[in-house]
Amino acid sequence: MPMMNMRLASPAHLIDINDLSELAQVRLRGDSLEVGALARHRAVAESPLVREHCPLLMQAARTIGHYAVRERGTVGGSLAHADPAAQHALVAVTLGAKLTLASRGGERVVDAGEFLTSAMSTTLAPDEMVLSVRYPCAGPGEVSAFRMFNQRHGDFALVAVAATLTLVEGRVAALRVGVGGVAPVPQRLEGLERFGGRVPDIDWVAEVARAARESVSPEEHPRVPALYRSELTETLVARALARCVERSGAFA
Ligand SMILES: Cc1cc2nc3c(=O)[nH]c(=O)nc-3n(C[C@H](O)[C@H](O)[C@H](O)COP(=O)(O)OP(=O)(O)OC[C@H]3O[C@@H](n4cnc5c(N)ncnc54)[C@H](O)[C@@H]3O)c2cc1C
Repeated sequence: MPMMNMRLASPAHLIDINDLSELAQVRLRGDSLEVGALARHRAVAESPLVREHCPLLMQAARTIGHYAVRERGTVGGSLAHADPAAQHALVAVTLGAKLTLASRGGERVVDAGEFLTSAMSTTLAPDEMVLSVRYPCAGPGEVSAFRMFNQRHGDFALVAVAATLTLVEGRVAALRVGVGGVAPVPQRLEGLERFGGRVPDIDWVAEVARAARESVSPEEHPRVPALYRSELTETLVARALARCVERSGAFA
């Protein structure tokens, strides 16, 4: 609707999928959480299943836009829209979610990182739709945090960060960090996973955050200097990781 409102899109036909209520369901599928394409951002943010099995998704969905956007916006619409700073795209890439796409020819499953090809671009064929997204359930002891910065409440983020952390006997056993808003598609910073195996104290948080900043190359923008987005990346990664460590009880 916003794309049509801004005259950026003028489709010859509109297909209303709002009555396909089975596409709005959230359910457990083995060790994955399946979220239907028509699930609204608010439903995701308030789902007990999402809270229990994919808390990063819950935290991210809570921060989307304004009340009206959360009430009407959908997971499938957000992913198909493919805004570089969108919360759903960032969480899907960070967690390695898989999308099920369907056409009259059948279904196919695509990794979120392959689905999003560039800003506002995906691998969706003209006759395909998103049916659902499968997120791996959070493992035992996994904690997560979502942090973002925008200029006005409800705007897309200038930079957003999603992080998950698993501690075993006080050391980092697993770490995932994703950044949105600094490139045409969200990025999972796999290089940061080399910081595993260490005790996550304040120095560790600062070191990982500095490395995150060095891993991104934001483009210059007339109103947002690249340096600003780089600094935001470091700050938000530090805040997200500090929150994860706090949630795991390791700072106590
Ligand atoms: C004022 C405003 C502020 C916003 N702020 C944020 C924000 O902070 N963060 C954020 O992440 N998002 C934000 N959004 C985007 C919002 O979250 C919606 O996801 C987005 O507008 C798409 O809306 P929709 O889900 O109703 O999809 P639609 O508008 O119906 O569709 C969007 C596109 O996706 C296609 N599409 C929809 N569903 C499917 C499907 N199942 N399969 C294939 N293609 C499909 C449509 O054909 C269309 O091309 C904002 C939107 C507005 C208007």
